[in-house]
Amino acid sequence: MALNIENISKSYGGNPVLNDVRLDIAAGEFVALLGPSGSGKTTLLRIIAGLQYAEAGRLLFDGEDITGVEARLRRFGMVFQSYALFEHMSVEANVAFGLKMRPRATRPARPAIAAKARDLLELAEIGHLAKRYPSQLSGGQRQRVALARALAIEPRMLLLDEPFSALDAKIRKGLRGALRDMQKRVGISAILVTHDQEEAFEIADRIAVMSEGRIEQVGTADELLRRPATPFVAEFLEGMANYQSQGAGI
Ligand code: ADP
Repeated sequence: MALNIENISKSYGGNPVLNDVRLDIAAGEFVALLGPSGSGKTTLLRIIAGLQYAEAGRLLFDGEDITGVEARLRRFGMVFQSYALFEHMSVEANVAFGLKMRPRATRPARPAIAAKARDLLELAEIGHLAKRYPSQLSGGQRQRVALARALAIEPRMLLLDEPFSALDAKIRKGLRGALRDMQKRVGISAILVTHDQEEAFEIADRIAVMSEGRIEQVGTADELLRRPATPFVAEFLEGMANYQSQGAGI
């Protein structure tokens, strides 16, 4: 299912934070919002999630206008930097939670919920940790649980805000591959907010480079490096030319 972001603008106390943002995300596509701190990435993601509202513009999801639809009715899965796991529940109970909370009419039977949780834990490569509690997990393992939990509700889209930024570099690298694999296997569109060029290049199909509330350019890693549309994009991605010539990730 595709998302069309049409002419979104937002300001705080008279200061424009997003300025006529337009972006189309295809069904099954993984797009990164990449830019320096303060460029408006999180605000845009929160507007897509329905946690904040734009002053102008529209969001169309699968052709339906969802601009004014409240967050929970959008059914988007979310993963943030802080691991918001339920500490008193086992890993498998954490993943099953969203399904157990569904109204009876749409709630799968108990064995089906357990099977779904197990499948997702396998997909996240943490099937062996199902019986543990969050306090017994590493930071990387906790984020794998958070991913599995976000996918358990069968979200219509996956939204990620700097999900790995609290983790150390080596663990982050391992998680990038896992995230991309999971998203492709599940087949939903995803949006990742990050300020880390390498992370965006490794995970996303396309990257939207943001600066001061605007999208400067959208393209594949290759397109951005070969044909930067603005001096900002060229400068922001300067270090990545090297990265590409090493053949890493692209
Ligand atoms: P990014 O995610 O790219 O770091 P943000 O979307 O968090 O950028 O912030 C963009 C700008 O909006 C920043 O200048 C920030 O200070 C401002 N901002 C974000 N949230 C609020 C808020 N609730 N109230 C006032 N200003 C805000």
